[in-house]
Amino acid sequence: ELYNKVLELKGNIRVFCRCRPLNSEEIAAGASLAIDFESAKDGELTVISNGAPKKTFRFDAVFGPQAEQADVFQDTAPFATSVLDGYNVCIFAYGQTGTGKTFTMEGTKEARGVNFRTLEELFRVINERQKLYRYEISVSALEVYNEQIRDLLVSGSQQSTMAKRLEIRQVGEGMHHVPGLVEAHVNNMNEVWEVLQTGSNARAIGSTNANEHSSRSHCIHCVMVKGENLLNGECTKSKLWLVDLAGSERVAKTDVLGERLKETQNINRSLSALGDVISALATKSSHIPFRFKLDFTLIMQEFKAYAFASRLFRFVFIVGGDSKTLMFVQISPNENDLGETLCSLNFASRVR
Ligand code: ADP
Ligand code: MG
Repeated sequence: ELYNKVLELKGNIRVFCRCRPLNSEEIAAGASLAIDFESAKDGELTVISNGAPKKTFRFDAVFGPQAEQADVFQDTAPFATSVLDGYNVCIFAYGQTGTGKTFTMEGTKEARGVNFRTLEELFRVINERQKLYRYEISVSALEVYNEQIRDLLVSGSQQSTMAKRLEIRQVGEGMHHVPGLVEAHVNNMNEVWEVLQTGSNARAIGSTNANEHSSRSHCIHCVMVKGENLLNGECTKSKLWLVDLAGSERVAKTDVLGERLKETQNINRSLSALGDVISALATKSSHIPFRFKLDFTLIMQEFKAYAFASRLFRFVFIVGGDSKTLMFVQISPNENDLGETLCSLNFASRVR
């Protein structure tokens, strides 16, 4: 029994690595591959530099360029069930711009990503459990850009007339709330798709260059789940965070002027704060460095029960704690991106 608990302990933070395929321009330019998936064991990948193996990394799962959205989701699906069991779950994508963070989380209409599939799995299990449980699901979508929060479910015209900006407020120990944020009730997958589309469209609107904007902002979906056990009347409340982070790359010095400088500092600050939080969680440190007022790290604070309890008593949080985190580290296979790829892989290794 003790052994099972140790395994479960390890299970509270998982890291999946996903590498996109070379795109047509890279192929046309004769790009070399910097990643070897074949000669490594399951769950491993080897970085190659100048034709020679440089470093091997291990993750909970590794998805190469051929992996389909469905393959990736197969290993992600258990996190959906965890939410219905009352766990807070955070699934986020981290990596350089252009490595497939949005592809993994949001996907396309034809190749839907983790956001859609996780909700689909929620509804599948809810249906399976309908004799025993009743669930209510609502969804919020927000964007954090330059330390400001934008509600992606409020239409552009309404947004400009909103008197005050949204803020994250602490409403209890480790609990946060954004007053005024739209929470859309969803009863079926058609409604889910509509909400996700509304959020995605809103993200593109209000920016002159959609790609550039999305590489500099965090996109966060929060799925709120209320459950009621129909036999004993017991209620649970849990949240699922689905996060598409800003690009992790450092911005070129020539780019860093005026507004852009502030933006860059905010991104670098929030990503390095996130790194500190995650590595503190992973090393079970008692001090979790939550630093910024309007930041993704505030949301991560809900996950701190994990670190505290595990330090005090290695197994307590399995009983008392209630959170699971899945990180996708997204990488490029192109040798030209090797510097950023190594940064991302090293960062992700710290987490495990
Ligand atoms: P990011 O959000 O990290 O900036 P994107 O998700 O926008 O990156 O991906 C960049 C481009 O690569 C997109 O055109 C996307 O469709 C494509 N792409 C990313 N990952 C994959 C994949 N696994 N398979 C096929 N195409 C991908
Ligand atoms: Mg993106």
